[in-house]
Amino acid sequence: MVDNEAFTYNGGKVEPGETQNIRYGISETYLGDPVRIPVTIINGERPGPTVFLSAAAHGDELNGIEVVREVAYEWDLSDLAGTLVGMPVVNVPAFIAQQRYLPIYDRDLNRSFPGSETSTGAKRMAYRIYQNFIAPCDLGIDFHTSTRGRTNMLHVRADMSDPDVARLANSFGSHVIIDSSGSDGMLRTEAAARGTPAITVEMGEAHRFQRELIDEALAGVESVFAEYGLRETSTVNWPGWRTVISDENEKTWLRADAGGIVDMHHDRGALVHEGDRICTITNPFKDDNVTVEAPFTGLLVGVLENPVVYPGNPLCHLVELKDDVRRVVEREQSAASEMTL
Ligand SMILES: [Zn+2]
Repeated sequence: MVDNEAFTYNGGKVEPGETQNIRYGISETYLGDPVRIPVTIINGERPGPTVFLSAAAHGDELNGIEVVREVAYEWDLSDLAGTLVGMPVVNVPAFIAQQRYLPIYDRDLNRSFPGSETSTGAKRMAYRIYQNFIAPCDLGIDFHTSTRGRTNMLHVRADMSDPDVARLANSFGSHVIIDSSGSDGMLRTEAAARGTPAITVEMGEAHRFQRELIDEALAGVESVFAEYGLRETSTVNWPGWRTVISDENEKTWLRADAGGIVDMHHDRGALVHEGDRICTITNPFKDDNVTVEAPFTGLLVGVLENPVVYPGNPLCHLVELKDDVRRVVEREQSAASEMTL
């Protein structure tokens, strides 16, 4: 049998069968101290793909941190065929501040990839991360959550027009895939454009560990590992139903037309029918309530969590389901509600 190759980065090397926990310098503070990100590299003895799992590129999006740590430290990876690059906290300065963006000038690290050695602070950080730990990978998954104050059901975002990215997205086994090419500077978009197929997984809300979503994501990683042969024990997961949301589907962030306090009538992941009440915007006296109805039948992929809005603020992210998928979801959700009665 052929041995796996060593994993090399600027300043180090991880031999087959070896695991290294690295604190890798990507910048410096005002005091001249290093800003270092934690990276775990588990290099299997057997050959296989090199896979990155990254989280907290937005510093307050925490669910993915636990996904990356559990894969790296709680899974038995003694039979790993290939290499795992685990980056539980990509955006260390924002994580320390517990905010989305890099604290200095509010720059978005997830619009700064693949970075540049000589440009802004954000791009320099992105460059060191990208060159050392993303570029050497054959594929990867970047974990996010909804923006603070909102929550979303677990879903994959991927450019489904790229067959290699589509394979990765499908193998994760989520119910919902949102087909989008992403924005310039986004980790998944820039990696895929440079030969490392990558997807984003969106799950839940910022500032939390949400156990059920973490478990769902771990099942997705297990399924990906099966698809690419990293572990013999795993099998590829079929979620029962799947919808790929493309530009052909109706999808919209419903926005508030009134300011007020929002009474949301559904959770993330709920199916709502055209004309159903999604939420009610109330004032302090609970009179003059404004009812927000579903403009079409669809799935509530994301909903407001912090129940206050100005006119124009997003209330929920509604996506249309094709009829066959809608019928399966209806059966599933009515069976689930009967079980809880
Ligand atoms: Zn994010």
